[in-house]
Amino acid sequence: MKKTLVTAGIHGAEIGSVLIAREIKGWVESRDIKEVEVIPEVNLEAVENKQRENPEDGKDLNRIFPGDKKGTKSELIAHRIFQKAKDYDQLIDLHTYGKNSWCVPYMLTDLNKDYNRELCEKIGLENAVQTGGTGGQLFIETSNLEIPSMIIEAGGAERYRDELEMVKKHVLSFIFDEKFEERQNEAAVSYYEYYERIRPDHKGYFEPKKEPGDHVEEGEEIGTLAGEVVNTPFSGFILGMKMASEYKPEKESVAAVARKEK
Ligand SMILES: [Zn+2]
Repeated sequence: MKKTLVTAGIHGAEIGSVLIAREIKGWVESRDIKEVEVIPEVNLEAVENKQRENPEDGKDLNRIFPGDKKGTKSELIAHRIFQKAKDYDQLIDLHTYGKNSWCVPYMLTDLNKDYNRELCEKIGLENAVQTGGTGGQLFIETSNLEIPSMIIEAGGAERYRDELEMVKKHVLSFIFDEKFEERQNEAAVSYYEYYERIRPDHKGYFEPKKEPGDHVEEGEEIGTLAGEVVNTPFSGFILGMKMASEYKPEKESVAAVARKEK
Protein backbone atom coordinates (compact mmCIF):
# COMPACT_ATOMS: atom_id res chain seq x y z
CA MET A 1 0.00 0.00 0.00
CA LYS A 2 1.15 3.53 -0.72
CA LYS A 3 2.24 5.47 2.36
CA THR A 4 -0.42 8.05 3.12
CA LEU A 5 -0.27 11.07 5.41
CA VAL A 6 -3.53 12.63 6.63
CA THR A 7 -3.25 15.97 8.40
CA ALA A 8 -5.70 18.35 10.10
CA GLY A 9 -5.52 21.28 12.47
CA ILE A 10 -3.03 23.31 10.44
CA HIS A 11 -5.58 26.02 11.15
CA GLY A 12 -6.49 25.64 14.81
CA ALA A 13 -10.00 27.05 14.56
CA GLU A 14 -11.13 24.34 12.13
CA ILE A 15 -12.24 21.98 14.87
CA GLY A 16 -14.59 19.88 12.72
CA SER A 17 -11.72 18.58 10.60
CA VAL A 18 -9.64 17.89 13.72
CA LEU A 19 -12.50 15.79 15.12
CA ILE A 20 -12.91 13.63 12.02
CA ALA A 21 -9.12 13.25 11.75
CA ARG A 22 -9.14 11.85 15.29
CA GLU A 23 -11.85 9.39 14.27
CA ILE A 24 -9.90 8.39 11.15
CA LYS A 25 -6.78 7.94 13.30
CA GLY A 26 -8.67 5.64 15.69
CA TRP A 27 -10.03 3.60 12.78
CA VAL A 28 -6.57 3.24 11.19
CA GLU A 29 -4.87 2.29 14.46
CA SER A 30 -7.52 -0.23 15.47
CA ARG A 31 -6.90 -2.01 12.15
CA ASP A 32 -3.14 -1.68 12.52
CA ILE A 33 -2.74 -0.09 9.08
CA LYS A 34 0.89 0.97 9.33
CA GLU A 35 1.10 2.64 5.92
CA VAL A 36 -1.23 5.44 7.03
CA GLU A 37 -0.34 8.13 9.54
CA VAL A 38 -2.93 10.63 10.77
CA ILE A 39 -1.94 13.85 12.55
CA PRO A 40 -5.15 15.53 13.74
CA GLU A 41 -3.54 18.51 15.49
CA VAL A 42 -0.62 19.71 13.38
CA ASN A 43 -0.77 23.18 14.93
CA LEU A 44 -1.40 21.97 18.48
CA GLU A 45 -1.31 25.28 20.39
CA ALA A 46 -3.60 26.86 17.80
CA VAL A 47 -6.05 23.94 18.12
CA GLU A 48 -5.98 24.21 21.92
CA ASN A 49 -6.85 27.90 21.60
CA LYS A 50 -9.36 27.26 18.78
CA GLN A 51 -7.69 29.98 16.72
CA ARG A 52 -6.38 29.95 13.15
CA GLU A 53 -2.77 30.87 13.88
CA ASN A 54 -0.31 29.63 16.48
CA PRO A 55 -0.56 31.97 19.51
CA GLU A 56 3.23 32.16 19.84
CA ASP A 57 3.94 34.02 16.62
CA GLY A 58 0.54 34.66 14.99
CA LYS A 59 1.69 33.26 11.62
CA ASP A 60 -0.60 31.43 9.21
CA LEU A 61 1.01 27.98 9.19
CA ASN A 62 -0.35 27.19 5.74
CA ARG A 63 1.66 29.99 4.12
CA ILE A 64 5.14 29.14 5.38
CA PHE A 65 5.91 25.59 4.21
CA PRO A 66 8.57 24.16 3.86
CA GLY A 67 9.31 25.95 7.13
CA ASP A 68 12.55 26.71 8.89
CA LYS A 69 14.10 24.70 11.71
CA LYS A 70 15.75 27.82 13.10
CA GLY A 71 12.60 29.93 12.75
CA THR A 72 9.64 30.82 14.96
CA LYS A 73 7.27 28.25 16.46
CA SER A 74 5.09 28.06 13.32
CA GLU A 75 8.14 27.82 11.04
CA LEU A 76 9.50 24.99 13.17
CA ILE A 77 6.19 23.09 13.01
CA ALA A 78 6.11 23.61 9.23
CA HIS A 79 9.67 22.30 8.95
CA ARG A 80 8.94 19.16 10.99
CA ILE A 81 5.73 18.31 9.13
CA PHE A 82 7.28 19.00 5.74
CA GLN A 83 10.29 16.75 6.43
CA LYS A 84 7.86 14.00 7.46
CA ALA A 85 5.56 14.53 4.46
CA LYS A 86 8.45 14.08 2.03
CA ASP A 87 8.61 10.40 3.05
CA TYR A 88 4.98 9.75 2.03
CA ASP A 89 3.48 8.78 -1.32
CA GLN A 90 0.31 10.85 -0.96
CA LEU A 91 -1.08 13.58 1.27
CA ILE A 92 -4.59 14.60 2.33
CA ASP A 93 -4.90 17.80 4.37
CA LEU A 94 -8.30 18.39 6.01
CA HIS A 95 -9.77 21.87 6.45
CA THR A 96 -13.13 23.54 7.08
CA TYR A 97 -14.42 27.05 6.44
CA GLY A 98 -14.28 29.45 9.37
CA LYS A 99 -16.77 31.22 11.57
CA ASN A 100 -20.17 32.10 10.04
CA SER A 101 -19.45 30.31 6.79
CA TRP A 102 -19.60 26.81 5.37
CA CYS A 103 -18.99 24.85 2.21
CA VAL A 104 -19.97 21.63 0.49
CA PRO A 105 -17.16 19.03 0.57
CA TYR A 106 -14.61 19.69 -2.17
CA MET A 107 -11.13 18.59 -3.09
CA LEU A 108 -8.73 21.43 -3.87
CA THR A 109 -5.55 20.66 -5.79
CA ASP A 110 -3.48 21.43 -8.87
CA LEU A 111 -5.49 19.48 -11.44
CA ASN A 112 -2.92 20.18 -14.15
CA LYS A 113 -0.87 17.43 -12.54
CA ASP A 114 -2.26 14.02 -13.52
CA TYR A 115 -1.25 12.40 -10.24
CA ASN A 116 -3.43 14.86 -8.31
CA ARG A 117 -6.35 14.12 -10.62
CA GLU A 118 -5.87 10.39 -9.98
CA LEU A 119 -6.00 11.01 -6.23
CA CYS A 120 -9.30 12.89 -6.72
CA GLU A 121 -10.74 9.89 -8.57
CA LYS A 122 -9.69 7.56 -5.76
CA ILE A 123 -11.16 9.70 -2.99
CA GLY A 124 -14.23 10.30 -5.11
CA LEU A 125 -15.86 13.26 -3.40
CA GLU A 126 -18.29 15.01 -5.74
CA ASN A 127 -16.30 18.18 -6.43
CA ALA A 128 -12.66 18.78 -7.39
CA VAL A 129 -11.43 22.33 -7.82
CA GLN A 130 -8.31 23.62 -9.57
CA THR A 131 -5.86 25.84 -7.74
CA GLY A 132 -2.53 27.07 -9.02
CA GLY A 133 -1.94 27.57 -5.37
CA THR A 134 -0.56 30.22 -3.11
CA GLY A 135 2.97 29.02 -2.35
CA GLY A 136 3.82 28.03 1.20
CA GLN A 137 0.81 25.74 1.55
CA LEU A 138 1.65 22.17 2.55
CA PHE A 139 -0.31 20.49 -0.27
CA ILE A 140 1.16 22.80 -2.92
CA GLU A 141 4.73 22.27 -1.75
CA THR A 142 4.39 18.46 -1.56
CA SER A 143 2.54 18.40 -4.89
CA ASN A 144 5.50 20.23 -6.41
CA LEU A 145 7.65 17.29 -5.24
CA GLU A 146 5.37 15.02 -7.32
CA ILE A 147 3.62 13.67 -4.23
CA PRO A 148 -0.13 13.48 -5.03
CA SER A 149 -1.65 15.99 -2.61
CA MET A 150 -4.87 17.83 -1.87
CA ILE A 151 -6.80 19.85 0.62
CA ILE A 152 -10.33 18.72 1.42
CA GLU A 153 -12.57 21.59 2.54
CA ALA A 154 -15.93 20.82 4.15
CA GLY A 155 -18.37 22.42 6.56
CA GLY A 156 -17.55 25.34 8.82
CA ALA A 157 -17.06 26.37 12.41
CA GLU A 158 -20.76 26.09 13.27
CA ARG A 159 -21.56 23.38 10.77
CA TYR A 160 -19.50 20.25 10.92
CA ARG A 161 -21.72 17.22 11.01
CA ASP A 162 -23.09 16.18 7.60
CA GLU A 163 -20.39 17.65 5.39
CA LEU A 164 -17.55 16.29 7.50
CA GLU A 165 -19.21 12.88 7.92
CA MET A 166 -19.18 12.68 4.12
CA VAL A 167 -15.46 13.47 4.05
CA LYS A 168 -14.74 10.89 6.75
CA LYS A 169 -16.66 8.23 4.84
CA HIS A 170 -14.73 8.90 1.64
CA VAL A 171 -11.32 9.03 3.33
CA LEU A 172 -11.99 5.77 5.20
CA SER A 173 -13.18 3.95 2.10
CA PHE A 174 -10.16 5.33 0.20
CA ILE A 175 -7.82 3.89 2.87
CA PHE A 176 -9.74 0.61 2.87
CA ASP A 177 -9.57 0.32 -0.94
CA GLU A 178 -5.87 1.15 -0.99
CA LYS A 179 -5.06 -1.31 1.77
CA PHE A 180 -7.12 -4.21 0.46
CA GLU A 181 -6.87 -3.33 -3.24
CA GLU A 182 -10.57 -3.07 -3.80
CA ARG A 183 -12.59 -0.54 -5.70
CA GLN A 184 -15.98 -0.33 -4.07
CA ASN A 185 -17.73 2.27 -6.17
CA GLU A 186 -17.20 4.31 -9.29
CA ALA A 187 -16.55 7.93 -8.46
CA ALA A 188 -18.44 10.62 -10.33
CA VAL A 189 -16.24 13.63 -9.73
CA SER A 190 -17.14 17.03 -11.19
CA TYR A 191 -14.07 19.06 -12.11
CA TYR A 192 -13.90 22.84 -11.82
CA GLU A 193 -11.19 24.75 -13.68
CA TYR A 194 -11.41 27.96 -11.71
CA TYR A 195 -12.88 29.43 -8.55
CA GLU A 196 -13.14 32.89 -7.19
CA ARG A 197 -13.97 34.32 -3.80
CA ILE A 198 -16.42 37.19 -4.00
CA ARG A 199 -15.25 40.03 -1.78
CA PRO A 200 -17.38 43.20 -1.81
CA ASP A 201 -15.31 46.14 -0.60
CA HIS A 202 -17.67 47.57 2.01
CA LYS A 203 -18.78 46.17 5.33
CA GLY A 204 -22.33 45.51 6.51
CA TYR A 205 -24.79 42.76 7.32
CA PHE A 206 -24.75 39.99 4.74
CA GLU A 207 -27.93 38.06 4.04
CA PRO A 208 -27.48 35.05 1.71
CA LYS A 209 -30.07 34.30 -0.97
CA LYS A 210 -28.33 31.13 -2.15
CA GLU A 211 -26.47 28.35 -0.45
CA PRO A 212 -23.46 26.12 -1.08
CA GLY A 213 -24.31 23.51 -3.69
CA ASP A 214 -26.50 25.89 -5.73
CA HIS A 215 -25.84 26.67 -9.39
CA VAL A 216 -25.97 30.34 -10.36
CA GLU A 217 -26.06 32.26 -13.63
CA GLU A 218 -23.83 35.25 -14.40
CA GLY A 219 -25.22 38.37 -12.72
CA GLU A 220 -27.61 36.43 -10.49
CA GLU A 221 -28.23 37.67 -6.96
CA ILE A 222 -26.48 35.59 -4.32
CA GLY A 223 -27.34 37.79 -1.36
CA THR A 224 -27.58 41.31 -0.02
CA LEU A 225 -24.96 43.34 1.79
CA ALA A 226 -26.20 46.28 3.86
CA GLY A 227 -29.40 46.02 1.79
CA GLU A 228 -27.62 46.15 -1.60
CA VAL A 229 -27.72 43.24 -4.05
CA VAL A 230 -24.54 41.15 -4.44
CA ASN A 231 -24.26 39.36 -7.83
CA THR A 232 -22.06 36.55 -9.04
CA PRO A 233 -19.63 37.75 -11.77
CA PHE A 234 -19.88 34.47 -13.73
CA SER A 235 -22.06 31.38 -14.02
CA GLY A 236 -21.02 28.55 -11.77
CA PHE A 237 -21.41 26.40 -8.72
CA ILE A 238 -21.38 27.82 -5.18
CA LEU A 239 -18.75 25.93 -3.20
CA GLY A 240 -19.05 27.92 -0.01
CA MET A 241 -20.84 30.87 1.44
CA LYS A 242 -21.05 33.20 4.35
CA MET A 243 -24.08 32.77 6.63
CA ALA A 244 -26.29 35.69 7.65
CA SER A 245 -23.88 37.81 9.70
CA GLU A 246 -21.75 40.94 9.78
CA TYR A 247 -19.23 41.06 6.87
CA LYS A 248 -15.69 42.43 7.20
CA PRO A 249 -14.11 43.06 3.77
CA GLU A 250 -10.46 42.70 4.70
CA LYS A 251 -11.00 39.38 6.49
CA GLU A 252 -13.37 37.21 4.48
CA SER A 253 -15.47 36.67 1.38
CA VAL A 254 -19.24 36.29 0.98
CA ALA A 255 -19.02 33.32 -1.39
CA ALA A 256 -16.70 31.05 -3.35
CA VAL A 257 -17.98 30.29 -6.87
CA ALA A 258 -16.44 27.70 -9.20
CA ARG A 259 -16.61 27.29 -12.96
CA LYS A 260 -16.81 23.79 -14.42
CA GLU A 261 -14.25 22.40 -16.86
CA LYS A 262 -15.48 22.30 -20.45
ZN1 LIG B 1 -7.87 25.95 6.81
